[in-house]
Amino acid sequence: MQKLIITVALTGNVPTKEMNPNVPVTPSEIAEDVNRCAAAGASVFHVHARDKDQKPTLDTSIFKEIAKNIKAKNPDVIIQLSTGARAGKDENDRIKPIDLLPEMGSFTTGSNNLPGIVYENSPSFIKKLGETFGKTGVKPEIEVFELGMINNAQFLVNKGILKEPLHFSFVLGATGSMPGTVQNLSFLTQSIPNGSTWSVAGIGKSEIPLATAAIAMGGHVRVGVEDNLFMPDGSQASNLTLVEKIVRIAKEVGRDIATPDEAREILSLKRENKDRILDLI
Ligand code: ZN
Repeated sequence: MQKLIITVALTGNVPTKEMNPNVPVTPSEIAEDVNRCAAAGASVFHVHARDKDQKPTLDTSIFKEIAKNIKAKNPDVIIQLSTGARAGKDENDRIKPIDLLPEMGSFTTGSNNLPGIVYENSPSFIKKLGETFGKTGVKPEIEVFELGMINNAQFLVNKGILKEPLHFSFVLGATGSMPGTVQNLSFLTQSIPNGSTWSVAGIGKSEIPLATAAIAMGGHVRVGVEDNLFMPDGSQASNLTLVEKIVRIAKEVGRDIATPDEAREILSLKRENKDRILDLI
């Protein structure tokens, strides 16, 4: 089995400090959490930006500030910027984080319901964002909430817009989309193109059970307070306690943890793209 890549969804767009004081919000809090989680074994960091009122934002100056803070202490980790819609629906704004040239960016290749919203990703937007990934060489993490999103990603490959191998993240258990069951995870993993890599992001209570399944199946894992605010015993989670739990489970079943460079190799990331985000800061 490949070594296990642990991704941390550090902040997200929804959790606030009132919900859980461990949610890192400012660039320096986010960088401190990266420090702790990288030391514990995480290699990829999925980043959202917040303004000074904790509200989601697509302001690229805040993304830059976060990247600068992270790389100052952890030059080796892989930064993945979000292109999610809760921070703003303007399509050009949603593409801008990819123009900052992070090593990775999230890319949801379809629409679905999420709590309180339609998560809208129209065919024309998917094509435009896909072309930006293709043009910049930023590696997309294809976020899959429903099976059709795999087909849409394959469509972009067939059109020459995205290049294989693809990396998928199955986001399961969000209210309004696919439930977070091992059966659904298994079904999705059997539906991706040969040679792809995959990770699972279970939402809420499904986070740790699905991560445990992925560890046993040879997939990779995303955890973090973006997806789940509680430990299985009901206590408040932090990004660090979630990463530590995954590392413990992996060790118990004999799965080694990937370093950032090992993660780059598994994900087919180009080494020369490692620090491009810093060139623009
Ligand atoms: Zn996210």
